[in-house]
Amino acid sequence: MSTNSDAAKGGEIWDAIIIGGGPAGSIAALALAKRGRRVIVLEKAEFPRFHIGESFLPATFDRLKELGLEPALRELPHVPKFGAEFAMGNGGTHLEIEFADGFCPCDETFNIERSLLDTMLLKEAARGGAEIRQPATVKQILSMADGDVRIQTDAGEIRGRYLLDCSGQQTVVGRHLGTRKNADEPHLRKVAYFSQFENVWRPSGRKQGQPLIAMMEEGWFWMIPLNERVTSVGVVLDADVAKSVLQKENLKPDQMLAWGIARCPAVNGRMTQAVGRPMNNVLADFSYRCRPYAGEGYFLIGDAATFMDPIFSTGVSVAVNGAMAVAKYVDDILAGRISAARARKRYISHLEESTGTLFQIIRQYYDHSFRELFLNGTGPLQVHKAVIGVLAGNVFPRPPWKLRWRLRFFDFLVKWNRKKQLVPRRRRFSLLKSDPTPIDPSIPAASGRAIPAVAEIQAGS
Ligand SMILES: Cc1cc2nc3c(=O)[nH]c(=O)nc-3n(C[C@H](O)[C@H](O)[C@H](O)COP(=O)(O)OP(=O)(O)OC[C@H]3O[C@@H](n4cnc5c(N)ncnc54)[C@H](O)[C@@H]3O)c2cc1C
Repeated sequence: MSTNSDAAKGGEIWDAIIIGGGPAGSIAALALAKRGRRVIVLEKAEFPRFHIGESFLPATFDRLKELGLEPALRELPHVPKFGAEFAMGNGGTHLEIEFADGFCPCDETFNIERSLLDTMLLKEAARGGAEIRQPATVKQILSMADGDVRIQTDAGEIRGRYLLDCSGQQTVVGRHLGTRKNADEPHLRKVAYFSQFENVWRPSGRKQGQPLIAMMEEGWFWMIPLNERVTSVGVVLDADVAKSVLQKENLKPDQMLAWGIARCPAVNGRMTQAVGRPMNNVLADFSYRCRPYAGEGYFLIGDAATFMDPIFSTGVSVAVNGAMAVAKYVDDILAGRISAARARKRYISHLEESTGTLFQIIRQYYDHSFRELFLNGTGPLQVHKAVIGVLAGNVFPRPPWKLRWRLRFFDFLVKWNRKKQLVPRRRRFSLLKSDPTPIDPSIPAASGRAIPAVAEIQAGS
């Protein structure tokens, strides 16, 4: 796809060059175009394309509404989401949360297939006035300075005033600068195994869109209703555990999901009638940071900046909120309302403060004491409302004070509960120690709607 091609001719200097047309890229493009800026998006894949990451926080939906995208979104097959459900893997303890009960001016969001959402967002960016080149691959960064950036694409050189890297896990600028660093905490080294199924049991009515997150010692499962028939099911495991299971059980990576489902009552209890592809897909080692998140001539947005763990479905919110912030900063820089150095400082602080809070709660999630307190559902001084506020994404550009002090208090409670019991103790659940209940993985998908095979996902994501 190429639009507005007249504007692109003749050695054009764009206000912003955007690498990647995922949520970060298309939202940044649309927000800049709406401000009257000349912006070009270079997306290497043909859309629609499969992408993992289909459940969102209210903080995503709110930004899409601000951009006037709610009607276009509601036309696509999606499932409204008002909360989420958390359980121990043995199925014993469940907690249902509603976003409306947290400290967050929001209550609703949605789950949707990314192929549909990303295609719609990119089309809306084009409709808003952005130039979209697709397929177009950025091959090399030639130079980056404030007001003057040059990049090499498979169709020639492009010049602009600012470069917005929205290339997702490809981290084009991070790799160019050598700043991409994998997560240093070993327990954040994870592998995800996932597929799609039909006929998975789900609650009805207002709760039908709430994802189930099932916890175990070795990681966690997700079950996300994507539309009225299809549910995305996946498991995230510690990389070391996954490696040893593969060896001991003589499994192939694409058989891991079935192995895990069979051992997790909270999940397999909902899949007795499920039909789906017998093999799963794999994404490994997806946690990293590319600091600094902005420098001379460039801003990193979404996964191109950082990614840690998708446990609370935060990735697209980080991307979309970052994209809106950068669009404003770039517009302000170009209009002379702010210096580039100050804009960078503010954006870096936006990303550090918001993702810092998210990362803190992600780290805690792997602590059994946190799980006990969290599953308790309520706590003193409305501390649970602060946790729900974070899970709703009320952290951009930084969490409000009423969340911050309660989160510190919650941190204290987590430490205290380790030593002295504050809430009912929950039994730990381990997949490795659990007996398998086989589900039949050999039934083909009812509608033939298979997601692409492993190699395609890794190459395209
Ligand atoms: C297992 C797992 C589960 C997840 N679940 C969720 C979830 O439930 N909710 C959620 O919000 N997030 C989830 N995420 C995270 C989510 O997928 C990402 O955070 C989100 O896609 C980031 O959007 P983005 O626009 O930054 O990057 P992307 O969506 O990856 O878009 C980047 C785009 O850049 C393009 N590109 C790359 N290199 C080039 C190049 N050289 N030239 C041109 N184009 C290029 C790519 O083709 C791609 O289209 C999950 C992630 C994982 C690993």
